[in-house]
Amino acid sequence: MEIQILGAHSIEAKGLRLASFLVDGILALDAGGLTSSLSLAEQQQVRAILLTHHHFDHTRDLVTFGASGAAFPDPVDVYALSESLDIVSSCLLDGRMYVDFSTWPSEEKPFLRLRAVEPLQTLIVEGYEVSPVTVRHSVPAVGYQVTSSDGKSLFYTGDTGPGLSACWERISPQLLLIEVSGLNDLGHFLKSVGHLSAQLLKDELAQFRQTKGYLPRVVAVHLPPQYQEQVEQEVRDAARQLGITIDIGYEGMKIIL
Ligand SMILES: [Zn+2]
Ligand SMILES: [Zn+2]
Repeated sequence: MEIQILGAHSIEAKGLRLASFLVDGILALDAGGLTSSLSLAEQQQVRAILLTHHHFDHTRDLVTFGASGAAFPDPVDVYALSESLDIVSSCLLDGRMYVDFSTWPSEEKPFLRLRAVEPLQTLIVEGYEVSPVTVRHSVPAVGYQVTSSDGKSLFYTGDTGPGLSACWERISPQLLLIEVSGLNDLGHFLKSVGHLSAQLLKDELAQFRQTKGYLPRVVAVHLPPQYQEQVEQEVRDAARQLGITIDIGYEGMKIIL
């Protein structure tokens, strides 16, 4: 399994993109930075998109990807909670701001096929076993465990605050892509809006190890560029306290499992 980080940040700027990840070139996790990071030929290889929640920084390239799809012969499946799909449909693909690619070029054969998922209802997507697991964000949100046919697996949290013990019980990944959205000093605020600081991450990882008896490789994503250096230092401190390494995700990073 090859995981490519397309977007590793919570804010977009030159060289920095919003949350987006690509598994083996065909399965996308979130769509914050899908089109700006892939050639048209690479976009055409994408067969399915898993959305963690409806927030704009995780979904907005559905629109630009839909526009690219005018050149593609095959439809693409978009998976998300029904609550997320409702908002994506009514706000992002509303047919007023731009084209509703979930009904284009026709209602019968649209380019984007919206498919609802339910927490803990495992499904097969393009040969991968996909398990949506509830996480703790400010809006309904799931993380996804994605397992390939040869047994390699990752878990991507999307946006989440602390309190993930029930989530940890449900997953056993070799790789954990997990968010760190702000500084330790802002921990109370981050918790209140469903995000993690490095310190909060440390507590969640300690809980993971206690629950599962191991820790997977950990890569921090959804970083705030305005505090990049400080957050990296705080993540390193948290890793040292846990006695592990935590990698900092970046645009273009490739991970092989
Ligand atoms: Zn969010
Ligand atoms: Zn976000």
